[in-house]
Amino acid sequence: MQQDDNGRESNFIHEIIERDLESGRFDHVHTRFPPEPNGYLHIGHAKSIVLNFTTAEKYGGKCNLRFDDTNPAKEDEEYIRSIIEDVKWLGFDWEDRLYYASDYFEKFFRYAVKLIKEGKAYVDHSTPEEISRMRGTPTKPGQESRYRNRSPEENLELFEKMRKGEFEEGECVLRAKIDMKSPNLNLRDPVMYRIKKLPHPRTGNRWCIYPMYDWAHGLEDAIENITHSICTLEFENHRPLYDWFLDQLPELPHPRQIEFARLNLTYTVMSKRKLLELVKGGYVSGWDDPRMPTISALRRRGYTPSSIRAFCKRIGVSKVESTVDIALLEFVLREELNRKAERRMAVLDPLPVEIVNYPEDKIEWFEADNNPEDPSAGKRKLPFSRRIFIERDDFMENPPRKYFRLSPGREVRLKHAYIIKCTEVVKNGNGRVTSLKCTYDPATRGGSTPDGRKIRGTIHWVSERHAISAEVRLYERLFIKENPLDTEEGKDFTDYINPDSLIVLKNSKLEASLKDAKPGENYQFLRKGYFCLDSKDSTKDKPVFNRTVGLKDTWAKIQKRETERT
Ligand code: ATP
Ligand code: MG
Repeated sequence: MQQDDNGRESNFIHEIIERDLESGRFDHVHTRFPPEPNGYLHIGHAKSIVLNFTTAEKYGGKCNLRFDDTNPAKEDEEYIRSIIEDVKWLGFDWEDRLYYASDYFEKFFRYAVKLIKEGKAYVDHSTPEEISRMRGTPTKPGQESRYRNRSPEENLELFEKMRKGEFEEGECVLRAKIDMKSPNLNLRDPVMYRIKKLPHPRTGNRWCIYPMYDWAHGLEDAIENITHSICTLEFENHRPLYDWFLDQLPELPHPRQIEFARLNLTYTVMSKRKLLELVKGGYVSGWDDPRMPTISALRRRGYTPSSIRAFCKRIGVSKVESTVDIALLEFVLREELNRKAERRMAVLDPLPVEIVNYPEDKIEWFEADNNPEDPSAGKRKLPFSRRIFIERDDFMENPPRKYFRLSPGREVRLKHAYIIKCTEVVKNGNGRVTSLKCTYDPATRGGSTPDGRKIRGTIHWVSERHAISAEVRLYERLFIKENPLDTEEGKDFTDYINPDSLIVLKNSKLEASLKDAKPGENYQFLRKGYFCLDSKDSTKDKPVFNRTVGLKDTWAKIQKRETERT
């Protein structure tokens, strides 16, 4: 994270803004986050949201939320709702500045008419194939359309007819008249309007011509008096076109566009088109499937808004494309949850244990810290009784050396309770262990050994009669390939989906206090990771818990490896 002379967070965008404020080009800062409502927001969008809102905040300015809803073919109310929810959840406030590009359609139209009247735009009746063929290539100049020199009067009349629906889709378009030989392909008479006989979620059937992104986007920023129009690198060579449009419309203010590198993450696809493919193809349960990189999925999985904001700050902003290791996102989350999440005992894959020398009806209550990292989180009482569950893999009949958990004839410590010894292994006809019989040592209450004997292993447990049953879902990375889009011959990115990315445990046993858990609350299940209640599939009788992230810190390992290497 870069800092300025006053110790405030800074980056190259802030430096440009400060020069603009010093030179007087602008006397304030106004940014915007401009999503197209054609999908759910993902973690890449979060980078842009954090950047736009915190930049405005730093300079005492404002940030708008604006829907870039110029293409009715792909846009939907559901996406608008989810985007509003996600930006709010991330903790940002656009106050009363929620805007829609579609509210400016009439203005866009009038500006187009102005360009036509000045001979700077024309209606082209070439076929879409002709237009794309005549556009040329980066090394070959384009060719002028035979309709390019229509008179302003004729163009005006044709454009009105386009608006009235007198032409069919694909019959003609409105193009800017710039330069078919420009080395920048974006300046080779770009299309400004095309015909789409589709209703729009907000303007209904009022329009059958819709503005192209490149025509609309710069105007939207200008109309809203945006000072700094922050966007991703792929728009760098569109900037001359946005500048050209605004130069023809001197009545509009002229924002400064600044490009930065988009966020890419390992083991993740980020484009909305690809994410939609995953949803439509049934590879995931929906946009908010906890394995998706969308904000709604991360929320459902247990990510906190502060962890996502912290991640975005930590990766910084630059002009160089790079791919961030997904382990960093997990690291930042884990760091926060370690401080904040209350600890609970939960046995994910239960093995019943009967403590044969413990009285049938006796219940003892042991006190446990809710969070050893935070004494203010208080304590809670844990019930202990004759029948408990332990984790199936905390027992081994024939343990290898260095296995310090439970095995026949050996002792282990039950966290917060007693030391027990395994005296009998009960199996079914197939030889599978179905339960254990143990004895406990009453002198070891609380887990200590008055005689000083060493107990190497400590395991978690829950009391059978007090436990609640739950489904627990464990997630792994959705893709097995670091860059799933780097496909081998004949393969599709969906071929790299991790078949084990979701593991469902149907019969986990949790400490009873978890029956009051609510979505959005984070818990550390001792030795198992961080978990939260699933907001969608949980019922009163059968809660569902999602593993947000494991305890194992792969990022720390990566860093250790790297420092060792250097
Ligand atoms: P995608 O390519 O994922 O479909 P998009 O760029 O088409 O995304 P928009 O809704 O147009 O999505 O994006 C809204 C804003 O978010 C834009 O300013 C865009 O530059 C920014 N943005 C999109 N993806 C990323 C990313 N991966 N990293 C940073 N910013 C991004
Ligand atoms: Mg887009």
